[in-house]
Amino acid sequence: MKTIGYAAGSATSPLAPFDFERRALRPNDVAMEVLYSGVCHSDLHQARNDWGWSQYPLVPGHEIVGRVIAVGSDVKKHAVGDAVAVGCMVDSCQDCDQCRKGLEQLCRKGNVQTYSDTDRFSCEPTSPTYGGYSKHLVAREEFVLRVPEGLDLSKAAPLLCAGITTYSPLRTWGVGPGSRVGVIGLGGLGHMAVKLAAALGADVTAISRTKDKEADALALGADRLLVSSDPEAMAQAASGMDLIIDTVPVKHDINPYLPLLDIDGTLVIVGQIGPLTEPSTVPLLLGRRRIAGSPIGGIAQTQEMLDFCAKTGVLPDVEMIRMDQINAAFARLEKADVRYRFVIDMASLAAPAA
Ligand code: NAP
Ligand code: ZN
Repeated sequence: MKTIGYAAGSATSPLAPFDFERRALRPNDVAMEVLYSGVCHSDLHQARNDWGWSQYPLVPGHEIVGRVIAVGSDVKKHAVGDAVAVGCMVDSCQDCDQCRKGLEQLCRKGNVQTYSDTDRFSCEPTSPTYGGYSKHLVAREEFVLRVPEGLDLSKAAPLLCAGITTYSPLRTWGVGPGSRVGVIGLGGLGHMAVKLAAALGADVTAISRTKDKEADALALGADRLLVSSDPEAMAQAASGMDLIIDTVPVKHDINPYLPLLDIDGTLVIVGQIGPLTEPSTVPLLLGRRRIAGSPIGGIAQTQEMLDFCAKTGVLPDVEMIRMDQINAAFARLEKADVRYRFVIDMASLAAPAA
């Protein structure tokens, strides 16, 4: 199938229109027209090769919502016309202990990422993956989520990465009424963490570098905003949190945040992939505190999160853009100038002639 997307040709080039082909449907494949694509900070990291493993041409996009336009002969879960979604993974081995537990993100053989990866499990010969900044997408049905009735399609896309990446640690650490949750960085992931933690019944502290987002934080469901650049406020908040979700996208110093945890509390890193400023073990040992990490979430839990959001009305705050505004959006994302997630209206990208 001929399609069109926006691709980065190298780590230094802007995104530009890119014609390419989606594979012919295999029996368990679903083809979708992409309606909306969220813009994750990971897309920017990957376009710039910040992590060192980008493959070009690189079509970003792993927060994808669309409609089914065709299904393979064996597909049971989805039918033409269904509202569906794809997140950060499009395949995994389906056979290891992690995949069998529904933890495809932890597949022993490595999951296949939606873009900048190589389709290698169900594809002969192997082929590159291209993401959701494109008119069409083809993926095997196990990795295609159902968008529950009632969820606004124009806002649902960011749930597929920002939503699940923050929902998953909230569930792993058993957050519910009585839990005290801190969220560092009020961006795409951070604002979803605040909304989801509040919807789960937790007491929520948004932790931001300045006071600028205080009114927003309260409107998102936080009980308060703590300014991380204010040492006095940070000292007063010591030992007051059970779980902190750290969404900061760059190398940073976690030492000022560790004392915010109560005894046995955990700071879970979902943001920076790579080095941190050296953490001191003093608050870890003395408070039996922990530092952890967490990647996205499994397919079953992603569906659980979508259903939870439909039930509770949790949706991201989005700013809709056209596809040709993506380079300006990346520039703003880099400056943390978005409240709180860009979503591309894919109708702004004309389909190629058949
Ligand atoms: P984002 O929208 O840019 O938000 C990041 C927020 O972090 C900003 O709004 C800002 O909040 C804060 N921040 C930015 N620069 C900072 C700095 N230099 N020091 C301290 N705080 C800073 O990004 P996002 O889309 O939420 O993504 C966040 C990170 O998560 C990215 O690195 C992304 O690659 C990663 N990620 C990981 C996973 C995973 O599976 N674990 C999944 C998706 C994304 P304030 O202005 O409020 O301080
Ligand atoms: Zn993402």
